[in-house]
Amino acid sequence: MVKISKSDYVLGLKCPNALWFKKFRKDLQPEMNQAILDRGTEVGELACTRFPGGVRITAKPWEDDAIAQTKRAMADNAPYIFEATLCTDTDEYCAVDILKNNNDGTWDIIEVKSTNQPHDYHYFDASFQRYVFTRCGVKIHNCFIMTLNPEYIRHGELNVQELFALHDVTADMQDIEIVQGEINRLRAILDGPELGVALSKVKCNKFYECGYKCHCWHDVPSYSVFDAFRGATADEVYSKYGADLHNVPSDVWAAQKHPGDIEAFLDNIDVINPEILKQFTSSLQWPLYFLDYESIMPAVPMFDNSHSYQQICFQFSLHVQREPGAELEHYEYLHGESGTDPRPGLIKRLVETIGDSGSVIVYNQAFEEGRNSEMAHDFPEYADKLYAINSRMVDLLIPFRQRGLYRPCQNGGASIKLTLPAFVPEMSYANLGIHDGTEASNQFMDFITGNQTPEQTKQMMDNLHEYCGQDTMAMVRLLAVIQSVLQTTKD
Ligand code: SF4
Repeated sequence: MVKISKSDYVLGLKCPNALWFKKFRKDLQPEMNQAILDRGTEVGELACTRFPGGVRITAKPWEDDAIAQTKRAMADNAPYIFEATLCTDTDEYCAVDILKNNNDGTWDIIEVKSTNQPHDYHYFDASFQRYVFTRCGVKIHNCFIMTLNPEYIRHGELNVQELFALHDVTADMQDIEIVQGEINRLRAILDGPELGVALSKVKCNKFYECGYKCHCWHDVPSYSVFDAFRGATADEVYSKYGADLHNVPSDVWAAQKHPGDIEAFLDNIDVINPEILKQFTSSLQWPLYFLDYESIMPAVPMFDNSHSYQQICFQFSLHVQREPGAELEHYEYLHGESGTDPRPGLIKRLVETIGDSGSVIVYNQAFEEGRNSEMAHDFPEYADKLYAINSRMVDLLIPFRQRGLYRPCQNGGASIKLTLPAFVPEMSYANLGIHDGTEASNQFMDFITGNQTPEQTKQMMDNLHEYCGQDTMAMVRLLAVIQSVLQTTKD
């Protein structure tokens, strides 16, 4: 009989195709995200330090010895068992992060999650664990999901008692019979041939982007009904007309938020709305400062005055143009001391270089504005200056999002990673050592936590200088495109 693990169960509930691929199409296995795995391990190990006297099961959950070790620890009346593992006589198995001994013949399940609150699929995890342990004759009293506590602000040494929040989810568990029914359904699917794939924008993006998309979605055009329509509406339109927008009647797409995108795609034409562009450029005040931040988001707060998953800026790039036609100046800050808080040095350098007047141009204002507000809160001595920067902010995303300028190759989006290649194709991120913000963040996390060699650090620093500088230069170039289009439409 095929073994069913907890992750198999949760994957199967999400999409039976995904479970079938996992079991029988090893060639399609998506790459694991190492940064997410490492974060889960770090949080899980920290969580266990809250429970002194616990016994750790050292064998892996799929090894027989894990079950033998668990049974011994239970027989020895261990107060807590970390990674307690059991398997039913029908081959459903799982490990429980923390099995707590209530000393009355019952046990509690505590599942640790490296999120700030429980999510839907965490309940499926815990439900499967309760099913396996109950089927193995263990009396489970309560089930808890332990998450990070976003209310906890670090001051000094990490307080692991306050770092975590325990959520009693006993009442939210799937009944044992429901879990059994779902397992029977999944086993029947696994006993059969590969299923026909049923694409769904809602399902394939549920919980997280499915790693099998490159297989299931390979026939879907790069701009399709799944891009042009939202959520359930996309699924509805797809079921009637398929993925290709050429087959969707115009009265169906005319009511969409951006019908112009679809028209541009079908006719392969650019969208230009000079009024929107003019409105944007007339809001600018000289000198112009083009600003971009890079940040990390440590799950466990690393620095004083920060909480779990707080964005911590470690780099900025600032291009400055003092007056029309003037040479560009470039300023930047990249934190270079591992293990220390990047924010004080970054803020100091920023307020020294960004002046007191002139527009501060960013791309997606919510991000830079939000970071400034957080830093103003955490470093009140700089609050006035940071709020003053926010009051000068202008969002270059807006004229693109409002379709002042749009090209079909943007595939319905307006992020800088789409508008730059559309309008300044010679400036590409493809040839850089770092290609996006996530990569920048992951590499800097390795540095700040001391997990890099000096050679890796040197390479990363070079790459980060180039990457962040490109982001602000991209804004300079995109603004120049807007000005040039306006000039052309005026002529
Ligand atoms: S891409 Fe969609 S259909 Fe394919 S396995 Fe993932 S969720 Fe299922």
